[in-house]
Amino acid sequence: MPLVHLSDMIVHAYRHNYAVGAFGVGNLHFLEGIMQAAENCRAPVVLNLIESHFENQDFELLMPAVQKAARRATVPVAINFDHGTSLASAERAIRAGCNGVMVDTSALPFSDNLWQTRDVVAMAHACGVTVEGELGYVPGIEGENAKNHPGELAYTSAAEAAGFVERTGVDCLAVSIGTVHGRMKGLPKLDYARLAKIREATSVPLVIHGGTGLTDDQFRRLIANGVAKIDYYTALADMANRRIRENVTADPKGSHGALLTGVRDTVRGEAERCIHLWGSSGRAAEVLAQCQPWHDVEHVVFYNIPATISESEITSIVREGKKSLEAIPGVRSISTRRTLQPGGEYRHSLSVSLASKSALTVFQNHPAQQRFDNTNFWPMITDHITLNLEEC
Ligand SMILES: [Zn+2]
Repeated sequence: MPLVHLSDMIVHAYRHNYAVGAFGVGNLHFLEGIMQAAENCRAPVVLNLIESHFENQDFELLMPAVQKAARRATVPVAINFDHGTSLASAERAIRAGCNGVMVDTSALPFSDNLWQTRDVVAMAHACGVTVEGELGYVPGIEGENAKNHPGELAYTSAAEAAGFVERTGVDCLAVSIGTVHGRMKGLPKLDYARLAKIREATSVPLVIHGGTGLTDDQFRRLIANGVAKIDYYTALADMANRRIRENVTADPKGSHGALLTGVRDTVRGEAERCIHLWGSSGRAAEVLAQCQPWHDVEHVVFYNIPATISESEITSIVREGKKSLEAIPGVRSISTRRTLQPGGEYRHSLSVSLASKSALTVFQNHPAQQRFDNTNFWPMITDHITLNLEEC
């Protein structure tokens, strides 16, 4: 079960002077390639789900595969939601299975960025989820979607970074020191002196977006100055695209499968190169030993209903309640079941799947849950038993 807390993983990298790769999961080929790279290199890895990509793929459909990949891995994995646009999208990401979120309000004025990030931190931390903030502005084209990153580069100021981190409580901070998202002409000029000042002024790991096109030496200097997570997608996508074009050229009438041949291996190869360069290779065992494992929690009520209430009545009450309960942050899903054994002690169950133990506390104290219990649920049922179960 090598899903671990994202903040623990990044702090480990920060303290040991290396960076974890946060690789964008463009599709299932990317997911397989990234996971193979992490396994081959015995490296901790972050699977990055980028909100702007959801226009072209069904996030809720992709996430079970991402979670499965993390859970069957033998290296530590965290699942991060990248460049979300709102508090609601961060809640959606946690519901879908992410244990780290980044809502990008860096294009807003400082105070708006600060207040919106604070709201995300309050919600996500209550669920035990790591939060990345961004200060300064990294413009440019990320993959194929430019519209989330228009405008001019704005450098992060060390003085503002210190106040931002302290007042928001973010676990790590994405900074703008000269990189851009996507491809750029020429070599970006990176402001290492600024980065060193930001590191001095803050006590959290720093994150670089827009890693595509940087030289080996640039990456090494970024890491030497406190960068512990590097978001990396465009280069992987470009290499995958090139591979597909080569396949088309070699066999213009090839099958769909033939056109995609080698995409997974291309992604794996580039991710392996980055993992070696960034120093996360061979770190899996120590990260697993030193980071908290991430456990989902299940809150289950087994219950009976009196003879005066019909099955359809209780079904419609629970269905109605599900709508409000599913909106509580940290609730992943709610299911109801009926026993197959007519003589069993309990005939019904209501099962709430939660992101974490912290999310269970949020759920139990939430007004919507208490209203449902006191007004709808408890008056309807007779005997019951409640179990809170953690994965093991
Ligand atoms: Zn980014």
